[in-house]
Amino acid sequence: MRELPPDQPPNQPPPPRATPHPARRRRALAVAVLAALALAAAGCGKEGSPPAKGPRPEALPHYRVVQGFDLPKSATWRKAKRRGRLVVGAKEDQPYVGEKDPATGRYSGFDIEIAKMMAASLGFDPRRISFRTVASANRETALQNGQIDYYVGTYTINDLRKRQVGFAGPYYEAGQSLLVRDEEDDIHGPDDLAGRKVCSAAGSTPLQRIEADYPKADPVSYDAYSICVDNLLTYQVDAVTTDDTILMGYAAKAPDELKLAGRPFSKEPYGIGVPRSDNALRLALDDAIEAHQKNGDWKKAYDATLGLSGVPAPKPPAVDRYAAG
Ligand code: GLU
Repeated sequence: MRELPPDQPPNQPPPPRATPHPARRRRALAVAVLAALALAAAGCGKEGSPPAKGPRPEALPHYRVVQGFDLPKSATWRKAKRRGRLVVGAKEDQPYVGEKDPATGRYSGFDIEIAKMMAASLGFDPRRISFRTVASANRETALQNGQIDYYVGTYTINDLRKRQVGFAGPYYEAGQSLLVRDEEDDIHGPDDLAGRKVCSAAGSTPLQRIEADYPKADPVSYDAYSICVDNLLTYQVDAVTTDDTILMGYAAKAPDELKLAGRPFSKEPYGIGVPRSDNALRLALDDAIEAHQKNGDWKKAYDATLGLSGVPAPKPPAVDRYAAG
């Protein structure tokens, strides 16, 4: 990327310099970090700087598209077949997990790879997926209204949600954790959040857990975690809480400014959301998850995406083919 020309015309004297006020300096730093995060997301860096870490296209596996696949009992699959495309819900601001490149509109990350594996097993070329960003709070409605065929986006399986949607999986198990500024010394776990502002996404299990189990904390919520991270960098909140997978991605993109604090304090098994009545689709996706774990695609996809934030591939959890009530 080319350097922008200086604001001042070349022959004018430079503006007077003063030692910036600490708060202003912190703000300037935060602005610089936010710009760096945005550049990293856009896949470009300053000339001469190391390339932004991100999935290298050549490291990503190719998934074998099952020919002649048929799933007549799934209304969702039949509709997608007629349309000639799958419409998949995802996240767009979660580095290494589900991220949209603002320049190209392309989605990447571990969840995106899972979505592609599923497409291949359902007989669709992964290039025939249209991804749609759906925030945590809107997932159930998007599936119930038929706006998406399935959803892959750090979506925790739980009994409450199972009353509204179906879940294939789990395909990964995360845990709730905390992200703080690098200089923060007083937050080591959720018990240290008393009187502190903690940010999370509306409609997420981590926000619900803070509200229910840590009543002394001061929760703040937005639609997306990236807004929480902006708020953390600009000193509006003291911590961001959600799954370690998501927080590790933000920390890896700004290692001098952000760090994870303490250990995970919940279990977040990730499922693929499907319309609740479509058991045929749910069970076909369960089969697909197992097949891609066995043939090595799952591990290759993890290594090329989420693995870049520093944690080696864990053993994937066992798929749960539950009986729909
Ligand atoms: N896994 C948690 C959830 O499903 C947090 C991540 C998210 O909001 O997507 O609520």
